[in-house]
Order: sequence, then structure tokens, then C-alpha cells
Amino acid sequence: MITSPAWSGKRYAVLGLARSGLATVRALAAAGAHVVAWDSDAEARARAEEIDGVIVHDLATLNLEGAAGLVVSPGVPLNTHPLVAQARAAGVPIVGDIELFAEARGTLPPHKVVGITGTNGKSTTTALVAHILQTAGMPVLMGGNIGLPILGQEPLVAGGIYVLELSSYQIDLTRSLDCDVAVLLNITPDHLDRYDGFEGYAASKARLFSMQSPDHEAVIGIGDAASAAIARSLSARAEHLTKIAPGVCMDQRGWPALQGPHNAQNALAAIAVAQALGVGEADIDRGLASFGGLPHRMEKVAEVNGVTFVDDSKATNPESSAPALAAFDRVHWIVGGRAKGDDLNACVPQLTHVVRAYTIGEAGAVFARDLEGKVAVEEAGTLAAAVASAARQAQPGDTVLLSPAAASFDQFRDYEHRGQAFREAVGGLA
Ligand code: ADP
Repeated sequence: MITSPAWSGKRYAVLGLARSGLATVRALAAAGAHVVAWDSDAEARARAEEIDGVIVHDLATLNLEGAAGLVVSPGVPLNTHPLVAQARAAGVPIVGDIELFAEARGTLPPHKVVGITGTNGKSTTTALVAHILQTAGMPVLMGGNIGLPILGQEPLVAGGIYVLELSSYQIDLTRSLDCDVAVLLNITPDHLDRYDGFEGYAASKARLFSMQSPDHEAVIGIGDAASAAIARSLSARAEHLTKIAPGVCMDQRGWPALQGPHNAQNALAAIAVAQALGVGEADIDRGLASFGGLPHRMEKVAEVNGVTFVDDSKATNPESSAPALAAFDRVHWIVGGRAKGDDLNACVPQLTHVVRAYTIGEAGAVFARDLEGKVAVEEAGTLAAAVASAARQAQPGDTVLLSPAAASFDQFRDYEHRGQAFREAVGGLA
């Protein structure tokens, strides 16, 4: 576990006791802090009650005055949660586990930190960077949004590199993380319910760089206006700023898990990070070639009668589905779920790759209407019906692609559950 002597004897309130919240409570308690923790879910509370020295108590009725921090999970909406307002009024810093990690860095063996953010591609790039560094023989830990709470892990030996995937929510809860290399992949509209519009969301991403020392490295994809503006604002960094231009043609044939234009961008970002950390060309090449990819991101699940079935359930907005469509020639596209917007405009330029679309879920009707006249479309309703229909109509060489451009919560627990349901439906075809 990663802890800091700086927390000893101080009072912390921890709100949200899922994976990272629980690891936070353990780390604070182990450091000798006084911890009061809460979660609206009774099961989560029960898990915290088992930790020595932790008091589980409703924070709404607690006087936060004098606390060293209100530590909140990234799932807590800072713009609307009443406790956040209370903490602000009491002058208590509102932080997350990544900020605690930043505080603990001073007592860790010498190391470097890579922070990776962006609307799409964070997990892939984080896993790819970690894989390339491991291939080069460096001690590496992944943490953050990728689902591995950083404070729950054993500190790296000297010379180690922490690779952190950071959502904008996590950046909002961080004040002093000085990344040795900070990466912004892209910014497109998402999560706007949590921000004062797109500007607020973009400003959140920009903070990753304002927390950095100016001679530390910045890597920025400049394929959208908001990211390009952030890159321009950092022009004083000169050689410490690497811009990743969109549409760079690369030979990706030797990288089985990095297909499609979006993965070209992710690969370029990862290469820039590896170079900044002194990894040699041969190790970078080996890493790109041997990267296995992540589940539910353009993951090939089966080939049935010459038709390839690809699970891209993680694509929960049109901007992330567009490059997946572009990666194949003849796509039977399963699309829909809980829409984040009313249209699929970002995907329209790639519809030339689509033979037929099969809409599912809550957004099924709206998406079908949006696609009508642009491409052959049918309202399949459910994922199982879509898979069955697509399998009937696909010809050898075609790809059946689940890339929903929408969230999963209308019909599934999460995107993983949706991907699993796709795999099972495909499994039942043979
Ligand atoms: P994140 O962790 O940011 O959600 P992932 O790496 O999990 O990103 O990828 C999510 C989805 O976004 C994938 O299914 C893929 O289709 C798409 N995607 C991946 N990288 C990019 C990128 N650089 N630009 C646009 N879309 C991307």
C-alpha cells in the first residue's frame, strides 16, 4: 500500500467507498490518520467497517471544520453534491485519491509519473504505455481510472514509473500532481451534466498541464479545437511539448491490437511518452507489436462462417465509434443504448464503411431515424436480435461490430456486461 507520514494524526472524511475509496481509507488509516467514511450503499459501508481505526458515519451530520480533507470518489458530482458545498464553506480541501498519491510521492523511492487523460483512448494508451515500459524492463505500475486504485498498490522500487489514467473528474480532485509526462489525447463533448458546459470540461483537462513543472513533458493530440487550444497555450514549453497531429499515416500491420486511426493516435502518444522516458526504438517496436489490447475495445471475439465479430462495447459516444467503423471495410454495425446526445453526426463520415446498421436499446428509434436515408438500417431492439439478424445478412469477409456510441445502462449493468452479452450471443450462433 502507498501511504504518507504527512497524513498521520490528521482528520479526513471519505465519501464513496467503492474500489478507490476503500483503498484510500485503508491507506489513510495505515498512516495513522483519523478517518470517518461514508457511502450511500450499505454493502460498501460494511466493507469499510472492517478496517481498523475507521469510523463509518453519515458525513452529512458531521462538522467538517478543521479536517485536512474531504476525499471524494470521482463518481460524486462536485457541481451538485451538498457535502461538497459544506466542505467548501468550511474551507476544507476537496480532493481525491490521486491527490493523496501526489502528497505521498515525496517519501516514495525516486520515480516518475505519467498521467494520461482525454475523452477517448485513455485506457488503451495507459495500458500500451505500461506495456512498452515493461517490455523495456522498467518497473511499472498502472493506476487510476483504469480500475486499479493507486494507493492500494505496493510502491515501486527506485527508478519505477507510475502510469496513471486520469478522468477529468479525477483531475478536478487533484491539486499538486506534477506529472513528469502528461498526455491529453482528445476532448470531445462528454459528461456535460457535470460541468458548466464544454468550456468547463475542457478547462478540467487543461489543469493536468497547469499542475506540471514547465520543464516536464507534455504530449497533446491536436485533432480537435479544444486540445489544439491547450497545446497553443503551452507553446512556451518548446521542445518539452509534443503535438500529435491527426490523420498521420502509419504502418500498423505489425500491431494486431492497435488497428484503426484512433489507435494510430494512441500509439503515437505512447511512443512520445516512451521516448520522453528514454526508451529505445527497438523496445518501443517490440512493445507495439506484442501489445494484447484491452477487453471490449475492438476486441475480436469470434469468426463464424468467415464473418468476424468485434466487441467495441467500450465505445459509449459517437466520437469513439467513428474510428472503429473506419477500421473495417464492410461493417454490420450494432449501435444504440442510452444515448449521450440525439445524433450520430461524428460517425457520418465513416458510414461508407457500413453495409447495414442495427439499432438497439433506448436510443434505437432516435438513432434509426438519424441514420435513415444515409445507410440501410433496421430497429433490432435487443442486442441478441441484432446479432442474429446481422449474422444472417453478413457475407464472408464482413465484420459485425458492436460499437454502440451510447452508454449501456438502459439494458446492461455496464459496458463489460454488454460486451459479455455480445460474446454470448455470438457464441450461440454456430
Ligand atoms: P477511455 O478509457 O478514454 O474510455 P478506451 O481506451 O477505453 O478509452 O477506448 C474507449 C473507446 O474509444 C474504444 O472502444 C475505441 O473505439 C475508442 N477510442 C480509443 N482510442 C480513441 C481515440 N484516440 N480517439 C477516439 N476514439 C478512441
